[in-house]
Amino acid sequence: MKILMYAVLEPEKKYIKQWSEENGVEVKCVDERLNKDTVKWAKGFDGIDFQQTQPLEPEVYQALHEYGIKQLTARMVGYDMIDFDLAKKYDLIVTNVPAYSPRAIAEMGLTQALRLVRKLGYYDQRMDKLDFRWAGLESTEIYNLTVGIIGAGHIGGATAQLYSALGAKVIATDPIHRVELSPYLEYTDQDTLLKTADIVTVHTPLNDSTTNLFNAATFKKMKSTAYLINMARGGIVNANDLIAALQAKEIAGAALDTLADEGQFFEKQATADEIPEDYKALRAMPNVLISPHSAFYTDTAMKNMVAMGLDDVVAIVNGKRPQFEVYGK
Ligand code: NAD
Repeated sequence: MKILMYAVLEPEKKYIKQWSEENGVEVKCVDERLNKDTVKWAKGFDGIDFQQTQPLEPEVYQALHEYGIKQLTARMVGYDMIDFDLAKKYDLIVTNVPAYSPRAIAEMGLTQALRLVRKLGYYDQRMDKLDFRWAGLESTEIYNLTVGIIGAGHIGGATAQLYSALGAKVIATDPIHRVELSPYLEYTDQDTLLKTADIVTVHTPLNDSTTNLFNAATFKKMKSTAYLINMARGGIVNANDLIAALQAKEIAGAALDTLADEGQFFEKQATADEIPEDYKALRAMPNVLISPHSAFYTDTAMKNMVAMGLDDVVAIVNGKRPQFEVYGK
């Protein structure tokens, strides 16, 4: 069996090689994404696997069908780049990787929250100046805090378990109330969460209800001692309103793993002129932590992302039901 993987990132390669050796399946990797020009490379392969946010053109579906390929496997959570009507027309089963490691993102969010709570940005600033005085560095302890989770799904649920294990009180908002999370959190409404949480941690998708969810009005509802943790999508937080809220001391700090305009420097070495002004202003603040959309980036997550996608390609090629089917014939 031969599988072609599109849009392969350097960090994935060792896990692809490992999976290929363990499963005795030949896997070819290309850097380019799947589109009407690159789909011809799939001729002669038994299956394909890709990750990208750009929609697939109609020619892609037709060509894959002509080459005898039976699936479209996105090794990522989202699959909105796939047109299900075309997938159905051309007999393509769609699979994704819905949760490659919620713990990876949950642990990163917790780590950043602990850094903020312990004011480590200010510690670093002082140590750079050989300033060993303590004034202004008094902190609090995590079990004294209320943590508010907005979006308690896979990642938010894992986040609730971590904070709960540390003794914090955990409250959450989510239109879906999951009974299995009841040992770790209590559901509340969004306003109560914003007004009472010491750490507000966001784990929703970017959708109509969450775009710009954190704006000037939202920050005014939060405690002046509260921290915002956004490990989800940049568009959930209005960066200029966040800067204003931090300058006015309406909230105490923030950790952002994603930014609305990150597309042009996502997993790239950026130049200073590519970085938006709001991003530079945030980066300069000792109470703001920015990471390169890498909260998911652990060995477990990478291994799962690769293996869960490829396992499903093999299942479909062998005529078996895949584990993560989002659309079946
Ligand atoms: P999930 O679907 O399991 O959970 C999302 C939850 O958000 C759902 O329970 C949903 O009901 C809830 N929700 C939707 N709109 C809401 C709203 N307005 N208020 C409150 N809750 C709302 O998804 P997940 O696997 O936990 O991932 C969550 C998000 O994390 C993803 O959509 C993605 O944007 C982000 N993510 C980030 C990284 C990273 O590396 N930083 C990696 C993977 C995912």
